[in-house]
Amino acid sequence: MKNISLHYLSVLSTLLFIVFCGGSEETEESSKTYRIHIVSSEEWGGTDHQGEYKMQIPEFITVHHSGEDWDRNRDPREFLVNLQKWSRSEKEWIDIPYHYVIDFDGNIYAARNPDYPGDTNTDYDTEGHLLTCLIGNYENLIPNDNQIEALINVLTWQCQEFNIKPGTLKGHKDYTDTACPGKNLYPYIANGYLLKEINTRLGNVILEK
Ligand SMILES: [Zn+2]
Repeated sequence: MKNISLHYLSVLSTLLFIVFCGGSEETEESSKTYRIHIVSSEEWGGTDHQGEYKMQIPEFITVHHSGEDWDRNRDPREFLVNLQKWSRSEKEWIDIPYHYVIDFDGNIYAARNPDYPGDTNTDYDTEGHLLTCLIGNYENLIPNDNQIEALINVLTWQCQEFNIKPGTLKGHKDYTDTACPGKNLYPYIANGYLLKEINTRLGNVILEK
């Protein structure tokens, strides 16, 4: 009889342990932090913006793709250096048209200074928008998990840093006639997935130097 009681107590304590641990994991999940690093233009080999331009206060978060086919072996830093040169020499823009760029591995790069509006080859007024661009053409490519994760985190960080409302999230095609950010990336905006994740993570994304 004594042995049975001890066995019963042992089972009970195991059950209590499982319940306790389960609850504890849930608490950790809700206060999870997300760490990002943004590669500065000095780090990727860029130079500060050139020329005068109107200034802006960021109010909206907007997603783009670069729209060109992407060779997986290409160095994203070399791509950024070339894009910066092209933007200035061919387009006479002050800098790369986007403020933040995400490569195929989910690395995040700082591009144009957020104090200045971005540029596009279309007619939408970019004033007040922070432009975040995934390198590649998402009419053909499928964005991978690392890219989506980086996109959620950098957009959340932008909302925290510039006091932007997550509900302002849109894609380039919401403003004008364009395929950007591509039929394989745009659904993450249209179906509410990015917005849901941004709202969940708001306040918990930490920028690491
Ligand atoms: Zn675009």
